[in-house]
Amino acid sequence: MSIAIYTKNVKQSQKWKQILRSKLQNEKIEIYPNITNFDSVTFLVCWKPEENLLRKFSNLKAIQSLGAGVDHILDHHIVPSHIQVSKVVDNNLSHDMWEHAMSIILSDMKNLSIHAKNQASKTWKYKKYKRIKDVSIGILGMGIIGKYVAMKFANTGFKVGGWSRSKKEIQNVVSYSEDSGMKSLLLDSDYVVNILPLTKETKGLIDHNFFSNMKKGSYFINIGRGRHVVDADLLSNIDIGHLRGAALDVFQSEPLPKESPFWNHSSIIVTPHIASLTHIDSVYPQVIENYLRLIKGERLLNLVDLTKGY
Ligand code: NDP
Repeated sequence: MSIAIYTKNVKQSQKWKQILRSKLQNEKIEIYPNITNFDSVTFLVCWKPEENLLRKFSNLKAIQSLGAGVDHILDHHIVPSHIQVSKVVDNNLSHDMWEHAMSIILSDMKNLSIHAKNQASKTWKYKKYKRIKDVSIGILGMGIIGKYVAMKFANTGFKVGGWSRSKKEIQNVVSYSEDSGMKSLLLDSDYVVNILPLTKETKGLIDHNFFSNMKKGSYFINIGRGRHVVDADLLSNIDIGHLRGAALDVFQSEPLPKESPFWNHSSIIVTPHIASLTHIDSVYPQVIENYLRLIKGERLLNLVDLTKGY
C-alpha cells in the first residue's frame, strides 16, 4: 500500500508530502510522476488530475480531492464504484466563501466602486445605499458550504433563501427545490450566489432562462464553477440592463483568457478563483484520517456519491 500525490504545483505537492510523511512515518509517499511502483498505490491525493491518470494505478482504492469540488476528477475520469472518492470539508473554507460573497454584497450595497470612480474625478456625489435588513439573498446549492453561507447571511440580518435538490430546515432560511422553487427564489432575490457543484445536471444550468427569471436589477455572484454559466447569456442580460452586474470568481477556462470580454466589462468584477483556498494546515488531519480508515477497511470521511457526482 502506498500514497501518491498529484497536483500541478510542485511546491504544493512537496508540502503535502512533507506533512503526510511527518504523520505517517512508515508509509511510502511519492509525488507523481516519480512513482516507483504504480501497482502498489492505493490512495491518491490529488487536485486536477491529468486525463487518464487513474488508469495508471491498477490497485487504487481511494481518491482524496484536495478541495471541496470533485468535478476536476469526475469530469474526465470514469471512477469505478469500488473506489471511494472523498472531498475536503472544512469550516475555514466555508467561512472564506461567506466572507468573499459578503464583501461583494456589502461593497455593492454601499456603492463603493461608484464612489471610488467619483473620487478619481474629484466628484462629490450622493448615491442611495441599501440596508442589510432590506436585502434578500438567494443561494444556489445548500450543501456543506451553501448551508453555512446561508446561515451566516441570515444571522447577519439579510433575508435568505436557498435552493437545493432536497428541502432543508434551517432557521430563518427559506428552502426551495425543483424548477418552481428556483423560479420563486430568483424572483425574490436581490443577490443570487451560486455555490452548486458541477455535475451533468448543473452544467449550463445558469442560462438565459435562469437570468430572465432573476429580479430586474439584481446581481449575480458565481463562486461555484464557471461551467454552470452560459457566458453569452450572462453578458446579454447585463447589457440589456436586466441584471445590474456580476462578480465572477470561477470561469469556463482558468486562468481567464486575456480575450475574455469579462476582463473589461464595467459591470463585472473578476477574481481569480480565490473565494476560498484549501489551507493544508487546516485540512491535513482529515486526509490522514482517511488514509488510516482505508488501511482499516473503513468508510472514508466526506465521501462523494459517485452516482450524483457530488
Ligand atoms: P455539497 O456537495 O456539500 O453540496 C452541494 C449542494 O448542491 C447540495 O445542497 C445539493 O442538494 C445541491 N445540488 C447538487 N445538484 C443539484 C441539482 N441538480 N439541483 C439542485 N440542487 C443541487 O458541496 P459543497 O457545499 O461542499 O461545495 C459546493 C461547490 O462549491 C463545490 O462543488 C465547488 O464547485 C464550489 N467551491 C468553490 C470554491 C471557490 O473558491 N470558488 C471553493 C470551494 C468550493 P442536496 O443537499 O439536496 O443534495
